[in-house]
Amino acid sequence: MDTSFDIIKERLKDKGLKFTPQRRNVIDTVVESTGRHLNIEEIYNIVKKKCPEIGLATVYRTIQLLDDINVLSKLDLNDGCIRYELSINNDDYHSHHHLICRECGEVIEVKEDLLEMLENTIEQNYNFKIYDHDLRVFGICSKCRKSE
Ligand SMILES: [Zn+2]
Ligand SMILES: [Zn+2]
Ligand SMILES: [Zn+2]
Repeated sequence: MDTSFDIIKERLKDKGLKFTPQRRNVIDTVVESTGRHLNIEEIYNIVKKKCPEIGLATVYRTIQLLDDINVLSKLDLNDGCIRYELSINNDDYHSHHHLICRECGEVIEVKEDLLEMLENTIEQNYNFKIYDHDLRVFGICSKCRKSE
């Protein structure tokens, strides 16, 4: 199986886009921070350590590019910044869900889909082919519940 890194490299090549060292650094960072839901500034701060000459604008443009070739997805937690995570989409890919703690801001991933019943009902009643969904659940995490 191809790694995420290989898939991204391949998609860039398919679009005729160059695999520059700066792009490589941004891609490395995004791949390495899987599950962390970083915003642009956090990505920039990590990339800068390996590649001090890179500018925020370059990081931003590279992220946009990765979004355009469908290897990233955006996550809006209603806290005023957009976060990004690796999500290599194909037609049958269903996104994982996010649990967002209102106390500490922790983002917990739910790997199971759990929406089969909803999806079947929608496909039957609306004759609508589902490709993906985006579910955010707001509440209080187990750590915060313990200290309540
Ligand atoms: Zn996630
Ligand atoms: Zn699903
Ligand atoms: Zn919490």
